Amino acid sequence: MTRTARLEELVRDIADFPAPGVVFKDITPLLADPFAFATTVEALTEPFAGQGIEQVVGIEARGFILAGAIAHRLGAGFVPVRKGGKLPGAVEQEHYDLEYGSDLLEVHADALVPGARVLVVDDVLATGGTAAATARLVEKLGGHVVGFGFVLELAFLSGREQLSGRQAVSLLTYGTSGDGQR
Ligand code: AMP
Repeated sequence: MTRTARLEELVRDIADFPAPGVVFKDITPLLADPFAFATTVEALTEPFAGQGIEQVVGIEARGFILAGAIAHRLGAGFVPVRKGGKLPGAVEQEHYDLEYGSDLLEVHADALVPGARVLVVDDVLATGGTAAATARLVEKLGGHVVGFGFVLELAFLSGREQLSGRQAVSLLTYGTSGDGQR
């Protein structure tokens, strides 16, 4: 079995979560498997090794799990980007559009080292709104987004187009219309 097939087997589809019609891509079985977790961390680290990444930004909440491990492997620091109202210190904010309405992401205003070279990590790239808003937050703080890492990408939602041509690595790609849509 290929590495990709093994990982894909451990991503579970949960129908109608968190809302009717949504197929949620649940990576918790993959995280729970020692080989798959290590493989995922290595596969998302390797493309960015040697690129001088100083800080890895993880997006709440599943992004934290991977970003922390990847930061450790890259010898980088970890920075959390959270939903509005969760971080205790002074924050920088960025609004982003959802299908209906908008949401808010925050980062501590002093979280980045000056001019930091940053890797942004999350579990799923769907429409790209979350990752693009995170990149804007990093740039507001004077950081430089070198690239993005995701476990999986819902390619039919074209999220990659929101990432301004920067390097974006996803280990699994789902391209079929309607599969995993949110
Ligand atoms: P988006 O901003 O549309 O790219 O959505 C990405 C964010 O929403 C990520 O933080 C994902 O964890 C989550 N997400 C979106 N769609 C799904 C899905 N089908 N399954 C699991 N998580 C999803």
